[in-house]
Formats: sequence, C-alpha cells, structure tokens
Amino acid sequence: MPLTQPLPRANQGTSSLVWLRRDLRLGDNTALFAAMQASQRVCCVFVLDPELLASDRVGAPIVQSFFSALKNLRERLRSYGSDLAILHGDFADELLAFAQRIGASSVYYNEDCEPAIRARDARVRVALETHNITSFGMRDLVVFGHQQILTEAGTPYKVFTPYKRRWLDAWHTAAPLVVPSLDGLDQRLLSSDEIGVTRAVPTPEDFGFTSSQRYPLAGELQASKMLEKFFVTGAASSYARRRNFPAMRGTSGLSTQLRAGTIGIRTCIHRAFSAMQSAAPAATSEIELWISELIWRDFYMQIVRNFPHVADGPFVPAAQHLQWSDDQAAFLAWCEGRTGYPIIDAAMRQLNTYGWMHNRLRMIVASFLTKDLLIHWKWGERYFEQHLADADLAANNGGWQWASSTGTDAAPYFRIFSPILQSEKFDPKGEFIRKMLPELREVSDAFIHTPWRLSPSEARECGVELGRDYPMPIVDHAEARIRALAMYEPVLGKRSQL
Ligand code: FAD
Repeated sequence: MPLTQPLPRANQGTSSLVWLRRDLRLGDNTALFAAMQASQRVCCVFVLDPELLASDRVGAPIVQSFFSALKNLRERLRSYGSDLAILHGDFADELLAFAQRIGASSVYYNEDCEPAIRARDARVRVALETHNITSFGMRDLVVFGHQQILTEAGTPYKVFTPYKRRWLDAWHTAAPLVVPSLDGLDQRLLSSDEIGVTRAVPTPEDFGFTSSQRYPLAGELQASKMLEKFFVTGAASSYARRRNFPAMRGTSGLSTQLRAGTIGIRTCIHRAFSAMQSAAPAATSEIELWISELIWRDFYMQIVRNFPHVADGPFVPAAQHLQWSDDQAAFLAWCEGRTGYPIIDAAMRQLNTYGWMHNRLRMIVASFLTKDLLIHWKWGERYFEQHLADADLAANNGGWQWASSTGTDAAPYFRIFSPILQSEKFDPKGEFIRKMLPELREVSDAFIHTPWRLSPSEARECGVELGRDYPMPIVDHAEARIRALAMYEPVLGKRSQL
C-alpha cells in the first residue's frame, strides 16, 4: 500500500504550473513536489472562481480564511523571490493563457473528491490537452485514495470502524512516509519578474462579503504553530477527556486550516504518531482518538468519491421518502438562535459570530433541526456551508446525514438527542451558554439549561423577561420526539426489518 506516490517522469527541460486550490501551502504539497521533481522551473497559480464567489454556496468566513491563506502564501513565495499568480475567470481559459504566457508545458494539481470539482477538472484537462499542455492530478487531500482502502470483496467501506481498522493496518504496513522536501525550491520557482503582474489578493469586500476579526484565518505558518501547540500544551494528551465540552479548548481547532490546505493531512497524522511514541501510556489512547477523527475525514471523502449521489440526496435510498416539514419560521428561529433551548441558541450564535462551531454542538443542532423540527438535513447542510470557515462538502454532508439518520453508518433514526440532557452533560455549569448568550448570564446553574421553568418573578430576578429578552421554546422536546419517531419509523423502521 504506497503512502508515497510514484511521480510523473522527469522532463527537466520544461516549466510547469502548480495549480493550487484547497492546498494553500508549500510544505508537504504533493503537486508542488511532483512539479519540482519533473520540471526545471515551476510557478504557483490560484484561480478565483467568479461563479462560486457570486453563488450562495460560500459565505464570508470561508472566503475570508481562503483569502488570508492566499495572502500568506503570496508572502511566502515572495520571500523566495517568486510570486503567487492570481487569476480570475474561466479556469480553462485562464490557465491556458497563463501557461502559454510563461511557456509552461504541464500543470500539476492535487485532486479533489467533490463530484462538481472533478467534473470541472476533467473539462480543464481536456482544454489544456488540446493545446498540448499535459496535466497531472495527484493524491494529496487524503492519506489513502478512494480505491486503496477496500473490503475483502474489493468494495468501498460503508461503515467507519472496519474502514478505520483497515486504514490503520495499511498505514502501519506501508513503506515509511516520505514528506516531500522543499530543498531547491528557490532555484526552481519562477522569479516574480518572469511571472509578471497578476491580481492583488482580494479582500472579502471585493466580492460583497463582510469580514470579521472573529472569523478564523488560515496560513501555513500559523497552521504549523497550531499543530505544535496542540501537542506541546498537552491538549492532544487529554483529547478524549476534553473534546466534547464546548467551554474547553479541547480540540485542535485545525479544521479551517485543513480546509484551506494550509496544513497537510499527512503532516497531522505523522505528528500524532510520533507524539504517541514518547507519550505516557494514558495519553496514547487520547491521541489515538484524534487520529480517528482525521480518519473520519478520509472516510467521508472516500464516501463522496465512491458514492457521489450523497452530494445531492440521502445515502440510504429509502430516506428519500421522509416527509420533511417546510416550516420557514422554525428554520429561521434555528438559524438565528431563537429556539428557546439555550444550548441550541448558544451553538448557533457561535456559528453566526465566529464562523465555526464545536463538534458536539454540530451534532446537537443537527439532531434538533432534523428530529425536533423535522426540517430537511439539506437546509441545515446549506446553512453550515454558508457560515462555516471549514465548510467542506464531504465532512459536512457526512455529519448531516449521520445526524439525520439518512447516511452511511449513521445514528439510528430513534437516536434523538435531548437538547436538555446534552446541555446538562456537556456544558454542566452553563459556562458556554453564558458566554454566547449574555442575556442568560444571571440565570442559576439549576435553570440555565431550561430557563422556561423559571417563574416570571424568578426570571425577573435574573434580569431576563422570557418571551422578550429570551424566547420560550418553539417546540416541546418530548412531543417533538414522538412526532419524529412517527415520521421516521414507517420509512426507515421497515427497512431495518427487511
Ligand atoms: P478536532 O477534534 O481537532 O479534529 C481534527 C480534525 O479531524 C478536524 O479538523 C477535521 O478535519 C477532522 N474531523 C474531526 N471530526 C470529523 C468528522 N466528524 N468528520 C470529518 N472530519 C472530522 N468538519 C469540517 O471540517 N467541515 C465541515 O463542514 C463539517 N461539518 C460538520 C457538520 C456536522 C453536522 C457535523 C456533526 C460535523 C461536521 N464536521 C465538519 C466535523 C467536525 O465537527 C469538525 O471537523 C470539527 O468540529 C473541527 O474542529 P477541530 O478542528 O477542532 O477538530
């Protein structure tokens, strides 16, 4: 099972473009390394997608993080006397014109798993090849490709645990990973004079988005520091114990960096395994769990690649027959954090303010939207897509289909999170709720998860008037649970009896 891929044959007389997309880094970048091995001169290029930027499929947080990563990458390349060429327009036209301008005869890029991007890449390849420009797609986004981790029968895994077992076997039996070196990069990169003038790094405002200092930024050096900090401060060694509590800094916070590709997945996995070698026995299983989360990332990417229909609908065909509600007012209350359930509202306020949400909260709000409000998971998926700095089709779709019981290896339909019990368990003192919902700051621990149980006079003593300063619950969870079972059981219950 090769971890390191064979590189295209060297063609030392040529110049190549390295078309960067969601891999905005120089270190551990397979396409860049392959281009350096195979050609004499290389030039890094990024193409802004006018259609995507004008669509409702991206939001300010991810645009801001990508633009910050571009700025950072340009500075890095300039420190080598080179530059990042930034183009804007039709991918094939722009890449072709630029390749011709600088005399490049090949284009290297790291492959994606998303169906729409794969289709676009295929079109770009054809356009380049008709002009004798060869393109090479490399595996970089994932550790193992979609056809590398297969069942005994040679089919893709649909269940995570055996996939993970096989993935770990493959990692341990593979030839040691060679992390590409940047030696000689300065001599290979085209100089900024040779590249000529290209666009400035845009700001989110250039495309009608509003920036915020609260959104996460991305950049290669920052990402490496975050990874180191996660291990050096001991957060990785207590990951299993702390990762579920949103009031704690118990997770790595690397998702925005992994999304923009300012850090490579192999670098993260490699760092975790080397930390395990020197860790105390108790810390080993904590770090192992973090590796598991990174394997979930590979798992969902192979799901999207092997079963592309998940991008448009449920993984489980029967789930197409679920009768979702189209209650726009309830959806809006969920989006705006006005459901009357503090843990839901605090989570949505974290998303709306910071462009990021803690994993436990993603699970709780997704269960609430789909099972308490019976609203289609695709509405929630889209909202996350527009508001997360780490919005990623594979992980987002996987998470939503898991929570709504429509996906591969999903939560069973009768598993319905209680927003009250989840809140009591994972934010026991209401610290996270009070941080996000200052209107509930004075509410005691006894009522912080269920403020509607305060009498009007008790509420007044806490400085809150229910229904004015903070809403009453928009649904009763116990009743909603019965409604959800009635909706799911005839559709997915029958399937499980077959
Ligand atoms: P850590 O706990 O430090 O984990 C390390 C890395 O592992 C993450 O950065 C991420 O790359 C990966 N990872 C962790 N959990 C998962 C998972 N369940 N699936 C896939 N990869 C995972 N993650 C995204 O990156 N983008 C999304 O759009 C996204 N949408 C989600 C939607 C829902 C409904 C749910 C339940 C989960 C979603 N996740 C998504 C997964 C997870 O919530 C985030 O990856 C995590 O919260 C990021 O925080 P972190 O970097 O501190 O994670």
